[in-house]
Amino acid sequence: MGLKIYFLSCIGLILFPIACKCKVYYSERLPFDLRCSNYLSKELKHEINSYRDIVQHIMEQMQSAPLKDVLYDEYTKFIDKFGARPSGSKVLEESIDYMVNLTIKYGTDTEEVIEVKTEELEVPHWVRGEESVKMIRPRLKNIAVIGLGSSVPTPKEGIEAELIVVRSFHDLEQLPKNDVKGKIVLFDREYTDYEENVKYRIRGASKAARKGAVATLIKSITPFSLYTTHTGEQDYKKSVVNIPAGAITIEDSLLLRRLFDRGEKVILKIGMQSTYDTKISRNTIIDLKGVLYPEKKVIVSGHIDSVDVGEGAMDDGGGMFISWFVPVGLKLLRLVSKRTVRSILWTAEEPGLIGAAAYLKRHIQELDNITFIMESDEGTFNPRGLDVAGSNGARCMIAQILKLFRPIDTLTENDEPGSDITLFTRKGVPGASLLNDNERYFWYHHSRADTLSVQNKDDVVKCAAFWAAVSYVISDLSVDIPRD
Ligand SMILES: [Zn+2]
Repeated sequence: MGLKIYFLSCIGLILFPIACKCKVYYSERLPFDLRCSNYLSKELKHEINSYRDIVQHIMEQMQSAPLKDVLYDEYTKFIDKFGARPSGSKVLEESIDYMVNLTIKYGTDTEEVIEVKTEELEVPHWVRGEESVKMIRPRLKNIAVIGLGSSVPTPKEGIEAELIVVRSFHDLEQLPKNDVKGKIVLFDREYTDYEENVKYRIRGASKAARKGAVATLIKSITPFSLYTTHTGEQDYKKSVVNIPAGAITIEDSLLLRRLFDRGEKVILKIGMQSTYDTKISRNTIIDLKGVLYPEKKVIVSGHIDSVDVGEGAMDDGGGMFISWFVPVGLKLLRLVSKRTVRSILWTAEEPGLIGAAAYLKRHIQELDNITFIMESDEGTFNPRGLDVAGSNGARCMIAQILKLFRPIDTLTENDEPGSDITLFTRKGVPGASLLNDNERYFWYHHSRADTLSVQNKDDVVKCAAFWAAVSYVISDLSVDIPRD
């Protein structure tokens, strides 16, 4: 559509303007089917259909004992052992070591050997300190707050200032500078969808600072709240003063707006402490080597880091674990394909796709050998299909493959699916993100409520089975997913 927006996926931070997401449901669109007659030969359709039995085998085996229990037990043990795994933390590095050892445990006991290695990179290390917001006037009340990732701290004594409430950037722009100067700005934007609301999390502090504000708060980005606060990365524009930025609950945001709209003078005291430096972390790379074209790769991925609150069970423990289980599960089923199946556990996705960017830079010469790249970072609820980027030929081929998985056969088209893998699809690598029944994803996203209680064993296991079987078919076909 040509509209330039800032989109935050996971879904972590993408710091560049990208095209608007345009989704089309394959099943609702006959012309797409007609279009595919130009791309799919009879022979290719026949070859794809010949995978029906193996797909059924993988789907059944992965959703039965012992594999389903191996996957889910290891997943829950991992989340319970480590909890949140923020970028730059010691616990993140320990969790990476743990996944390397777990891969060795399951990956090297037969002749089909899995190789695992890590690649180092520098990552941000932002650590939250004490945080509080108190309403001083018109009455005393503690307001729950959570600082946004990379926010600067307030002075030790805090910031006490009058509050101004706006509903949009447009509202803010309309205000004379003197109305904003020296005040705390609250962005109380109605939740419409994540992509629209997240602009306020990313750019709110810089926009308000430009008008002379001393701190900003946003209404937490979620359609539903039981007094939960939701964090996530924010980004300071160069050339403006960096001011503290936090998120409050929907409930308190609405309260403050009502008071403000009635003409009450609202005074808040904000105290937020944090520190920032950088550390070394690692991407984890797990290969089940292909027997015919080992240099060619089908990549499946999720991120191992999480925000610092909650347990990172949903975002992205689920996606990371089902991706880990693709080469491991296929190996346990003794299924080795023509191309290499590579699982990548990205590090430092949350502070801005840092791990994926480092991988891209390091492996830039190998892009032609990535047959397909997949990512699960939008939930592992009941799987529905794939959100696909690539040429018409690529989309048609994936649509044909998805027919093997009915009813998990929805194909949506999207030039920017997922978060980490958008760095690759922008370079012309065909790829897909996991579609699933994730309507409740943002209820829990980046909050203390992202725990194992959100997850359902049967759904996670079904996602893992689908993920492995799709990877197997694509990595074993006689032809690559077309780029043109
Ligand atoms: Zn994520």
